[in-house]
Amino acid sequence: MNSKLALILPLALAAAVVPMAVGQKGESGKNADKIEPALPKKAFAKPKQKRKLLVFSVTNGFRHGSIASGKTAMTLLGEKTGAFEAVVSDDLANFETDKINQFDAILFLNTTGDPFFDKKIDKAEAQAKSERLQKNLQNFVKGGKGFAGFHSATDTLKPRGDKVPEYSKMINGAFDGHPWGGGTPVSIAVEKGAEKHPIVAHLDGKNMDFKEEIYQLRDPYDSSKVQMLLRLDLDRSQKVGLKRADKDYANSGCKDQGRGKMFFTALGHREDVWTNPLFQEHLIAGIESGFYITELIGFGVEGLTGNYSRGACGQWIENGEFAYPVSEVTVAGNLADMFANITAASDLEFRAGTNAPTVRVDGMTVAGV
Ligand SMILES: [Zn+2]
Repeated sequence: MNSKLALILPLALAAAVVPMAVGQKGESGKNADKIEPALPKKAFAKPKQKRKLLVFSVTNGFRHGSIASGKTAMTLLGEKTGAFEAVVSDDLANFETDKINQFDAILFLNTTGDPFFDKKIDKAEAQAKSERLQKNLQNFVKGGKGFAGFHSATDTLKPRGDKVPEYSKMINGAFDGHPWGGGTPVSIAVEKGAEKHPIVAHLDGKNMDFKEEIYQLRDPYDSSKVQMLLRLDLDRSQKVGLKRADKDYANSGCKDQGRGKMFFTALGHREDVWTNPLFQEHLIAGIESGFYITELIGFGVEGLTGNYSRGACGQWIENGEFAYPVSEVTVAGNLADMFANITAASDLEFRAGTNAPTVRVDGMTVAGV
């Protein structure tokens, strides 16, 4: 189907695609029989390039019993949807510069404490190693890759005194207790205005109600610095020792981190949350959104005629809002018409040798939607 529509594609989100092999069978683990039936039937926006997700769950503090279920869920999610190959590994060597770039995104699955602190070596050496690996992780994400943090990923690399690790700023906050324990009935609301965001669109603006442990976060938490996606609905949740005067209890959010993407979800404490199909869909969409910008597309323009054609993926817009993600579309037009119909947004930032704002081009032909 071809349609004449205005397409808004931030350049960084455009992506090329090649057929993808289904990920290898990884660590098949706990609760596979309960997790499997709840898996989404298809990928959120199936990539054609093989992607590698490092699933990392080192704990230097509390260790959640649900980590095994999380590993199973991430492995099966990648296999079933074809969206990625989950590499389940706690090997710190994966964060060294010669290895980290084999991954497209890194997931901190219920990590705690300083997971980079190597207890097997001398303390001063271990500290230096942790700082090096933290820096490598930042360079990895800021360079255009994805980072995802689940549940106690905010109880990881927390600020100490006035030393605030970049990690803590990236994930936007640090664990400050959980007034809602694991057995507490809670209601999780989709953030107002974010109902159509691809990471929560499947919820259709409706709350998720279940029992789950809910964190409150402390500085550097600032919910205005992220695209908030899920928040605790206090009116519909059991009220227990609230600490925050602003009643601002984030459950999920995402943001740009340099040229990369950060996705965070606070859920994942209880075993049964991992078997919840709504949660699984939230996870797959969150992980995949970090992949978008790791792909670049081929460029096709005919110099003499000005005919332009390019494979792309991005967000389809309906009624002025992101409606759903699209991939494998071809965007075509003629350069002369395109330049006559171009409107630039006010988001121009000078960060590189060549800079461009988001542009809107009216009258493009879009095929494959
Ligand atoms: Zn927990």
